[in-house]
Amino acid sequence: MKKLIVEVRMNEGAKKPDNSHVAYTPDEIIADAVECANAGAALVHFHARKEDGAESNEVDDYRRIIGGIRARTDVMVHPTLGLFHGARPDQRLSHISALAASDDLRPEIAPLDMGSNNLDFWNPETKSFVGDGYVYQNLTSDLRIMASRLSEWRVKPQLALWTVANARLMGVFVEAGLLKEPVFPVLFLSGDRFVAGHPATSAGLRAFADNLPDCRCEWSVLVHQANMLPLIPEIVSLGGHVSIGLGDYAYPEIGCPSNAELVGRVAQIARTMGRELATANEAREMLAA
Ligand code: ZN
Repeated sequence: MKKLIVEVRMNEGAKKPDNSHVAYTPDEIIADAVECANAGAALVHFHARKEDGAESNEVDDYRRIIGGIRARTDVMVHPTLGLFHGARPDQRLSHISALAASDDLRPEIAPLDMGSNNLDFWNPETKSFVGDGYVYQNLTSDLRIMASRLSEWRVKPQLALWTVANARLMGVFVEAGLLKEPVFPVLFLSGDRFVAGHPATSAGLRAFADNLPDCRCEWSVLVHQANMLPLIPEIVSLGGHVSIGLGDYAYPEIGCPSNAELVGRVAQIARTMGRELATANEAREMLAA
């Protein structure tokens, strides 16, 4: 059976008060990445953060994190893009461009979000929006530029698909020669506080799985703002990969575990179903064009 790539979505914008294991500083991110790799993760996704948890766009922070991880483990690295809100492609890619200039620091994966979405939080208890004006804009023209740049720099995009429409855009990008096969999408499912993705249910997952374009594809799944563990058996049996971590959810119902503990839980479920975890090198081969 095909091996399972476990990616850890380490920190995103998650806060330590929700789970004290969330990594902020470069040293914390490096230590967490090593622990996750030792637990079986093949890929780690991280956002550089400052001491107080604020997002950092400093290329030096990314250099330190990637250098530190690679000194201690061969796990694949997947830094985020910079300047999330309203920035032009070259601004969003500026630290990736600087890192890709060096063979030692070139990220193997970088994200591309295949469409624009309203990213407002909803409070289901009070039935009110926490915010209601946040559009995450990804123009097709910008995505074409970013896909071309990443290809030039030999950085593989992980294609975040928030809805089936985003999957269709990925398909036409493949047809246009802008993305190389196998493509590596991550299917975005989300809980009730964040309604921009498909619901974190079997039906939400299958709507994606049933509508992926006809191309070579190694797809993964993330669940934002909800517990992903109940969906792992179905993802494993459908042949998908898993992108899990404290960046998406604090997992209070199982005692606020560490990222490495989450990897251990996924590994245990997968093994009982006959799927072993892919090592970092096996994941590299599966994702290689
Ligand atoms: Zn991220």
